[in-house]
Amino acid sequence: MLYWSIGRKVGQLKMKRKQRIHIAIDGPAGAGKSTVAKHIAERLSILHLDTGAMYRAMALKALRLGIEPGDAEHVLPLLPRTEITVENKNGIQHTYLDGEDVSVLIRTPEVAKGASDIGVIPEVRIKLAESQRQFAQEHDVIMDGREIGSFVLPDAPYKFYVTASAEERARRRLAELREKGLGMDKTLQSLQEEILARDHTDSTRAFAPLVRVPEAVLIDTTDMSIDDAVNEVLRCIIAGE
Ligand code: C5P
Repeated sequence: MLYWSIGRKVGQLKMKRKQRIHIAIDGPAGAGKSTVAKHIAERLSILHLDTGAMYRAMALKALRLGIEPGDAEHVLPLLPRTEITVENKNGIQHTYLDGEDVSVLIRTPEVAKGASDIGVIPEVRIKLAESQRQFAQEHDVIMDGREIGSFVLPDAPYKFYVTASAEERARRRLAELREKGLGMDKTLQSLQEEILARDHTDSTRAFAPLVRVPEAVLIDTTDMSIDDAVNEVLRCIIAGE
């Protein structure tokens, strides 16, 4: 029933507005944004763009060249000679750095920290936001990140801010890393500290910080299953909240 009505609603939206469907999901690291967005994309037959992967790819480029991702002086010259693209294959996002599929390589804690540091540099954000907007012009999309509703797609009709307690987010990240056989030296405590440090960097940077815009619906996933969070987002879209 829910599938049917949302499908019909999306169909109506497309017909009436002749406009792209844009859904913005922002929130801190590990809150479940990407997982929720992926499920919503499947249910609505639209694309999902995980913008964090693009910051991670940019950070990987710097790290490979021995450049500290927060070092603007050395990162800026890389921008004109870096190409970051994404492709959706069977519902899974593949992220390419200068033509190389780096989707797996960008999932390490080191690259995550680098992504947070490189994202402080305004020119990096401007470059990536441009290609994200281009993507949105060409596709119906649910995009997740930190500043999608405030900066990348400020006119998106549907905006959500997905969060969870820092402890729960650290627990999820640990499980995710263990599943991939990564970050074996990490503990719950060390991951929680890293997450809080990333929250701080993300929300205090001067240019396009992590922010909950007033019109974004707050979804706290601390005690929610993925299905509950997905259904809540779909319910809000149907209700036009
Ligand atoms: O979402 P994910 O954890 O993959 O993002 C990695 C890092 O990239 C974040 O901590 C954040 O600092 C940065 N990022 C960003 N803006 C986005 C997406 C991610 O600054 N839209």
